[in-house]
Amino acid sequence: MIERFLKQTSFTSVEDYNKNLQFIIPEHFNFAYDVMDAWAEEAPEKLALLWTNDQGEEIRATYKQLKEQSDQAAAYLQSLGIGKGDPVMLILKRRYEWWIVMLALCKIGAIVIPATHMLTKHDIVYRNTRASIKAIICVDDPYVTGQIQLAMNESPSVKQYIAITDHGKPIPEGFRDYQSEVVKAPKFERPAFVNNNEDTMIMYFTSGTSGEPKMVAHDYLYAMGHLTTGVFWHNLHEGSLHLTVADTGWGKAVWGKFYGQWFAGATVFVFDHEKFNADTLLRQMEKYKVTSFCAPPTIYRFMIREDLSKYDLSSLQYCCTAGEALNPAVYEKFYEKTGIRMMEGFGQTETTMTLGTFPWMKPKPGSMGIPNAQYDIDLLRADGTPCEDGEKGEIVVRVGDKKPVGLFKGYYRDEEKTREAWHDGIYHTGDMAWRDEDGYYWFEGRIDDVIKSSGYRIGPFEVESALMTHPAVVECAITGVPDDVRGMVVKATVVLGKEWKDKAGDDLIKELQQHVKKETAPYKYPRIIEFVDELPKTISGKIRRVEIRQKDASK
Ligand code: ATP
Ligand code: MG
Repeated sequence: MIERFLKQTSFTSVEDYNKNLQFIIPEHFNFAYDVMDAWAEEAPEKLALLWTNDQGEEIRATYKQLKEQSDQAAAYLQSLGIGKGDPVMLILKRRYEWWIVMLALCKIGAIVIPATHMLTKHDIVYRNTRASIKAIICVDDPYVTGQIQLAMNESPSVKQYIAITDHGKPIPEGFRDYQSEVVKAPKFERPAFVNNNEDTMIMYFTSGTSGEPKMVAHDYLYAMGHLTTGVFWHNLHEGSLHLTVADTGWGKAVWGKFYGQWFAGATVFVFDHEKFNADTLLRQMEKYKVTSFCAPPTIYRFMIREDLSKYDLSSLQYCCTAGEALNPAVYEKFYEKTGIRMMEGFGQTETTMTLGTFPWMKPKPGSMGIPNAQYDIDLLRADGTPCEDGEKGEIVVRVGDKKPVGLFKGYYRDEEKTREAWHDGIYHTGDMAWRDEDGYYWFEGRIDDVIKSSGYRIGPFEVESALMTHPAVVECAITGVPDDVRGMVVKATVVLGKEWKDKAGDDLIKELQQHVKKETAPYKYPRIIEFVDELPKTISGKIRRVEIRQKDASK
């Protein structure tokens, strides 16, 4: 089996790979058996996972060890009555066991729902009920177990609560002790039947950037869809050591720390840390000689404020970004400091990488790249007709009657939301962009974030990128504020660099306004500028413009 996948990696283009994809999809594709266990057989001693944490602990696991440990975990979960089609929620942060349990659940055909540790009792009850969660496996973090305990009485579907603690620590009330029980598991027997390709394998919540997170259901081929992410976008191969910065409760974790990377036979590097700090992260990359790196733009915005010459990053060869728009100024600064051209990608929890800059392309700073041939992508006007080059429209996937590999099945138990986004054979991303004459796509903004002011439509990204070229600005968000005359006026919420904080005042406001007028069409300049210490963000580090809008509206 693995040989067939390996051959794919010798394809030189995504087009080539996708043309052949239909011929290589096995009937009952299961990532854990067909990729991971196949690697364990073919290259047992190869390093699959290199895990470390803030305390300097380290775990190095080969493909063979991952097979053995995931078999054991699968047998344990089976012994608790968990099996095919059972929804299991994981709240494991970046604990090593997340990778093991993810594979184990895949092996027994259960539906895995990775979630963030920030959930409150209310969120947990909501998820338990909505998805009829059967078991929760969580970290032993007093906040997490505390919230779960509060939710227990109102969660009748949940039969098992399992905590993964540090050895020897007392187990919170109501939980089973994973560590001591898993080692006593019987020998794993692979079920005679595990899955069809269209069965649900994983459900992820969207980031909640624009509103309540939506629950996205993916089938078993979703894993296959990420071959492109790991092999063609991250440019990974055997010997690569790849680090993606993402909480395991965010879809980006399986984009960057799981399926595609292991398709490529690379080593996934995990740094389990409490709070992001650019210096600490860079030191880990230096120490472990990370070769390939991917993070949302917000991480790069903080990295370029560090003196990068302090670190030996000579092993680093390849850098990618996705999740939010990458401001050209950040691209240029990073290139200047490291000599590495960042390769941007675009996609959603609902998809695998949809647009991207591939290894054989020259990136255009500020552009997301070109369509992944896995999807039939187009830009549509509001009336549903296709845009010309240069014209702004919504990014859509033409699905027709055959769902492409990688696209979600729908929002779980929410037909209305599914139909809103996906109807008449077209999936609507809700994101606006335009295409240049070379076929590169340029992000404009989420449809909800586009500002209508005095008859103009203003995409926040362009104005944010203009502001970002001013040395005082670390981060900013552009939003519309209701206005009697103009309908909306443009507002900038700005985080200043440390050395600029005491200059926050009218002069700096004027200077920033003049700066934007010089950098982009003057009608877009922010008439209102507010300085703040921090922007409201999701756990995945995305700016929540909706929160700024709501706050302004309630004033
Ligand atoms: P929610 O749907 O709950 O509001 P979300 O859309 O942020 O949250 P995700 O699925 O994590 O949830 O993110 C996908 C979105 O991220 C895309 O729809 C797009 O708006 C944004 N995005 C991803 N990559 C890029 C990129 N390269 N440039 C600009 N935006 C991007
Ligand atoms: Mg979304």
